[in-house]
Order: sequence, then structure tokens, then C-alpha cells
Amino acid sequence: MPSYTPMIQQYLHIKAQYPDAFLFFRLGDFYELFFDDAIKAAQELEITLTSRDAGGDERVPMCGVPYHSAQGYIEQLIEKGYKVAICEQVEDPKAAKGVVRREVVQLITPGTLMEGKGLSDKENCYLAALTPFADGTYGLAYADLSTGEVRLTLLSSWEETANELHAIRARELVVSSDSDDGWVRELKERFAATVSYEDEAAWRDEWDRVAGHVGQEKLRSTLARLLHYLVRTQKRRLDHLQPAELYQVDQYMKMDRHSKQHLELVETVRLKGRKGSLLWLLDETVTAMGGRLLKQWLDRPLVNREEIERRLDFVETLKAAYFERQELRSGLRSVYDIERLAGRISYGNANARDLVQLKKSLLEVPALRRTVGALPLSEAGRLAERLDPCEELVELLERSIQEQPPLSVKEGNIIKDGYDQRLDRYRDASRNGKAWIAELEAKEREATGIKSLKVGYNRVFGYYIEVTKPNLPLVPEGRYERKQTLANAERFITPELKEKEALILEAEEKSIELEYELFVAIREQAKQYIPRLQTLAKAIAELDVLQSFAAVSDERRYVRPQFSTERVLAIQGGRHPVVEKVLGTQTYVPNDCYMDREREMLLITGPNMAGKSTYMRQVALTAIMAQIGCFVPAERAVLPIFDQVFTRIGAADDLAAGQSTFMVEMLEARHAIVHATQNSLILFDEIGRGTSTYDGMALAQAIIEYIHDRIGAKTLFSTHYHELTALEETLPRLVNVHARAVEENGKVVFLHQIAAGAADKSYGIHVAELAGLPSSLIERARCLLAEWEQSTPKREAAESSVRSPQADEEDAPAKTGGQAGGRPPSRAAGERKERERETVVEQLT
Ligand code: ADP
Repeated sequence: MPSYTPMIQQYLHIKAQYPDAFLFFRLGDFYELFFDDAIKAAQELEITLTSRDAGGDERVPMCGVPYHSAQGYIEQLIEKGYKVAICEQVEDPKAAKGVVRREVVQLITPGTLMEGKGLSDKENCYLAALTPFADGTYGLAYADLSTGEVRLTLLSSWEETANELHAIRARELVVSSDSDDGWVRELKERFAATVSYEDEAAWRDEWDRVAGHVGQEKLRSTLARLLHYLVRTQKRRLDHLQPAELYQVDQYMKMDRHSKQHLELVETVRLKGRKGSLLWLLDETVTAMGGRLLKQWLDRPLVNREEIERRLDFVETLKAAYFERQELRSGLRSVYDIERLAGRISYGNANARDLVQLKKSLLEVPALRRTVGALPLSEAGRLAERLDPCEELVELLERSIQEQPPLSVKEGNIIKDGYDQRLDRYRDASRNGKAWIAELEAKEREATGIKSLKVGYNRVFGYYIEVTKPNLPLVPEGRYERKQTLANAERFITPELKEKEALILEAEEKSIELEYELFVAIREQAKQYIPRLQTLAKAIAELDVLQSFAAVSDERRYVRPQFSTERVLAIQGGRHPVVEKVLGTQTYVPNDCYMDREREMLLITGPNMAGKSTYMRQVALTAIMAQIGCFVPAERAVLPIFDQVFTRIGAADDLAAGQSTFMVEMLEARHAIVHATQNSLILFDEIGRGTSTYDGMALAQAIIEYIHDRIGAKTLFSTHYHELTALEETLPRLVNVHARAVEENGKVVFLHQIAAGAADKSYGIHVAELAGLPSSLIERARCLLAEWEQSTPKREAAESSVRSPQADEEDAPAKTGGQAGGRPPSRAAGERKERERETVVEQLT
């Protein structure tokens, strides 16, 4: 090593312990970076790279950011997936012998954010630890450091684990240091997460509070990995970590990542934004806590009927109680993010403003509690009890912290008068001194006869008496001592003035120190309330989500779903909630959907843009909304409780992933076929179109038959292979429906109605006709179509055969009125003719 200066040696020594982080090395008012860190940071942050003589032969690269504006730079690096080690001076430079001692006080990583822009109000920020076991299972533990939430589960396969990782969107994954390189690369790429290493080490007693109840060794060791990493990076006690919540994925409706994306539950496919998603529609929450919980609920619909009904009871009660709901909403609006405030208090970075926010929030609780407690529902009474107003804490904060304290906790003006006698005395001393000085001007003017005499203050000389040049002869000799000469005035001091000044300064210095001490002590006291605050925060979050469901359900005329134990799905007047909201209720055409044990599959045909995929999606969204405990967009809805939902709709998003669209399609089809049960819902939109016609059609038919014969899941399958409609004759539980379109004055009108039977098979030719292609060409196309139909006798036979009697019976259970959505067709010749008159066309522009 070149003969570096002691400071650079210290730097290198510390940096060696944090090879994978930018080391922010505190030097006076700056954080400096050196060597490669400096070169890389200068690029990433677009700051100037300089160099410094460091004792060696060459100058070392250096760059720096001011201490006061460091936060923004740190956030930029974290945002890019880097880590930042904050290295502070841990002794007073004046007292230091040799180089000031420095230590890393915190390692900030993408998964351990406590504050800043990277942390969104309405989303959790998770750090996850992962352990693969030899038997193929995976332990997964994750925490949101800002809220203290800890969750823990054991997953049976990598597929399930990947799905869970996608759901929680962990920003950082912690794995064992001997993990397989290929796997680590996969983790980084597939989940766009930072990967960190932590090896299991001894259990610590202090973790018993978080995980004393976790018995299973696999889970305990995974949790230990998580907690070790948190302790190592944060370097402090984390009292706000909540007892780990153990869960199993089958407590919830399973949906893989693609299904969630296709259904646009939390973001839209095209814009990747929240707007236009189901979350956007449902989010009438008014607190950050409610916003985060809503997203969690949407990610995990329930399968336990009692739990679902409990939420629905609450929503029904709140929906009916309009005034109470408005009261709750206005109360909740004044509630700050108690969960994260509790985190900051525990973490030790809460300032006085945070405590004022906490107090203001707590002051709202008694009224919320009264309103909830008065609702005519026993469940509401139970929730009211969890709304703990923490009165003693409010009383403490009310008495101690000023209403509008500054951001800094080290500059005074935090503590109220009357809270602490010593502080009051310092403040008196300083106030008295200042009052004495204020009177001094008048007194001295009189004594000297100098009318323009002024008393002033500056940082260098302190208090002084200023006399302009022309008046200098009047200055009393001996009593005034000359201190500073200006162009047209002289400044003087007197012993008395300096004495008062010393008293004032001392009192101020002491009072600022004391205020800080008092503040820290108050914050410590507040720490004891953290478990209570967390219970309160959970209750508030729940209340907020439930009122949000009630508000949306009321405003958009949703109905309470009923659940069928007979696997019946009967939706009357169903709507796609988001499309309805965007188009307006007047324009949206409601549709029915009826399925039961004898009617498991709907094969949907019809031209592009006719409303097929909207219809399919609305069925799935209705089921999901019901299972998160919300009312549903329909006039009436009876639904089974689905264990899983699979969707394969659209493909635009797959292109970027590097796999062929068709391969992705087949992988997703496989996923559904392997995992679906008769209690699942499958939506397949035009499966098979990614390959040659016969190839695709053959696959589509085989998939339909497989699901029909072996799985029995409720399935909506849209296709443009008209030939598949003949399957209705051979598969007893499959029914044809189609999206209607008609011709009006030579224009095509999509009715967006789902009607019984198959679509007109030659709508493509109609489109061409409408587009104005020569009539001889159209004739030729018709001939060709007829020829090809001749050459597939089986289909032709099926097409003309009579429907099986069983299928006709299925007319009976179709209780739904209005448009016969999905009802089996009666193939009376007249109706058929009528259908043939309907011209169906793609929207050509
Ligand atoms: P397809 O899947 O048949 O190509 P889509 O379901 O994508 O058709 O629907 C095309 C467009 O038609 C949608 O973007 C929507 O604006 C409109 N649409 C669909 N269903 C309805 C409906 N029930 N009421 C009104 N408009 C609808």
C-alpha cells in the first residue's frame, strides 16, 4: 500500500468492510467519496470529480456532497439499486488525538428505506430473505422496515416462490453467500431486485418478541437471515418490528403474476400506471395506511367464506350509513401515517413535527371510535375497541411539544413553556437579558444625549452600542470601550452589556441543549406506545378500506355478492367496473353470465372489438372483488368461491421478455392446466393464434377438451377459429356464445351484447364487403369459404347436427333476464336467419 495519510488509511480500512456500497465518508460539512467510489458516484450523480493529495505518489480521485443536501443524492443511488454506507465522525474533532474516529452508522439499501422519495405513501417497501431447502421448499420472510410489518411463509416450489416474490415486489432479496450464481442472476433479472448476502448466525433473544412463536426450523432460520441483515445494516435496536405473521398461500385466492397483469389489478398493461386499474377504481381510501392495506387485500383475495362475509357485512352496514361514513372519512382525513410515524419513533429519526402529527392523529381517534361503535353491527363494536386513543401519550405530547416546531431537533423552539422548570429558568434568563438590552438604548440615549445612538447585534462581536462619527465627542469617556470602527460610526461595548450578553448566550446554549435532551426523552417515552400505535394503525387501515369499498359500492351501484356452494355462477346485469367508469354508466352495456355444473365452459366468438375480452375480464373482476369483500358491479350476483384465477389475455407485454409470444402463451396455458381445479376460473383469450391456423386450432381444441374432460374449471374461452364452435355438439358442458354486432345504414355497430350461440362464421367477408372491396372478389371469397367447409366434413356435420337434448335442458337454469348472456341458443331457423343478417365487421378506419 502506498504511504497514504492516516485519514485515507482509515477510509480504506472502513471501505474494505463495505465493498458493495458507496461509502459516504464524513469530512466536516461534507460526505466525501474516494477512489473508484468517487469515479462511479461522479458519473451516477453528475457531480464534479476532483482529486486529493493522499500521501501516495498519485492524487486519489475524490468527489463530495454537502452534508445538508446529502439525502437527495443518497436517494438517487438507492433508486438505481445501489447501497450507501453512512460513515460519521463519532468523536468531537476538537477532542480527537490524531485522526477523528469514524464509524459506519447505517447501511442504506433499496430494501431498508425509512424515508424519502423512494418510499411511496400507498405502497409497502419490502426486504425479503429467501432460503432454498434441499427438499425443494423455500422459506420466505419479508419486512417493511418503515412500518415494522414482518411476514413469513414456507412455499412448496420455486414456481410458487417466484409468484410470491412478484406479488410482494421486494426491492431487495437477502440470500446465503454460498448461493448458486445462476440463481442469483435470475433473482436480479427476474425480480429487478438488489441481491444481498447474509449467512445465518446465532438467534438473538431480543428477536423472541418478533418470532418467539415461530417453531418450524426452516422458517426460523429464514427469519434469522432477515433479522441479522436488518441489524447489521441498520445498527440499532428495531423495537417497532411487529410479531411475524405466519401465513400460507392457500389461505388466499391464487393468481400468478401474468393473470394479475392481464386483469390490470394494480396497474394497466400499456401505461404501467395505477390509473385505469382496479386498484385505481376501488381506492377511495383517505389514509396512507388504508391505501397500503387496500393493495394488500387486492393482492390476496380471500377463500374463507366467513372472512369474506365479515368484510361484506361491514361494507353493507357502512354503505347504508351515509352520514356516519362521511363523518368517518372526514375524521380519517386528519389522520397521518401512524404506522410509519411509529417506525420513525422507534428508529430514532422522528422529529418534533412527527410527534405533532402523531398527536393530531390521535386526537381524531375518540370521535372515530364513537362513530364506529354506534354502527349497528357487532363486528363494528369489535373494531371500535381496537381504536385506542392512547390518551396518556396525547396528554404528554400536548403538554410538551410546541404546535409548530421546526424541522431540526437541535435548534430549540420545540418544548412548550411550563413543561420543564430548568428550561423555563434558562428561558427567563434569556428573556430578561434581552428585555434589559431592549431598554438599554433609551437609557443610554438619555444619559449621553445622543439621539441616534443604537444598540445592535452581530455574530462576531455580539451586542454593541453604535454611535455615528459626528456624535463621537459625546461618548462618555471610560464607561464605553471601543470595539469596532466603521466608515461613519464607531461601535462600543460596556462591561454591563457584556455581562448580560454572556448570561443570554449561556442560557440560550443551555436551553437548546436541554430542549434536545427533553425531546429525546419524550421520544423514548413515546416508544413505549409503539405496539399500541401499531394495533391502532391496523384498525384504522381496515376501517379506511372498508369505508372505501362502501363509498365505491354506493356511488357505482354495486350489489352484495352471494356465494354458491353448488359451483353456480349467475351474474345478472354484470359490468366491467373500470370500463364502466371510463365510458360512463349510460354507454356501458351490462351483460349476464350463467354457468353451473352442467355448463362449465363458454366458447366466445365474435369480431374484434365486439367486447369479448371485456366480458371475460368482467367475470373475473367480479369474482375477485367479491372475494376481497367488496360489492360487485352487477344487478345480482351469485358466485362460487374460486380457489384460483388464471387468465391469458393479450400479449403485448411479453414481447420484451425475449420469449416468443407463442411460447409464453403455451407456458401460461400449461400453468393453468397443471394447477387449475374444478373450483378455479380460467380465462383464455384467443389461445393458439400465435402459430399456423391448423396448428393453433388443433391446440386450442385439445386444450378445451382437456379442461372440459379432466379439470372442470369454469372456463371462458374466446376464439376466432369458428370451427371450434362445433365442439358444442361433442362436449356436453361447453356452450357457444357470441358478442353481437349489427349493420345499420351500412355501418357496423358493436352492440357489446353477449348472446347465445356462435357468431356468424363469415363476418370477415362482411367486413371486407363493407370496406368496399370489389364485389367479384367478395364472391370469390364466399366460394372459397364454402369449398373449404366442404373439405372438413366432420365440422360440417357437427354444424348441421341437432343440439344434444342435454344442452337444451340448460336453458332452464338461466334465470338471468334481459339479453340472454351465454344462454344456449334455440336454433330456430328464423333466429338463425336473423343472425345471418347481422353484419359483423372489424373496425376499419
Ligand atoms: P374484443 O375482445 O372482442 O376484441 P374488447 O373486449 O376489447 O373486444 O372491447 C372493445 C371495446 O369495446 C372496449 O375497449 C370497450 O371500449 C368497448 N366495450 C366492450 N364491452 C363493452 C360494453 N359491455 N359496453 C360498452 N362498451 C364496451
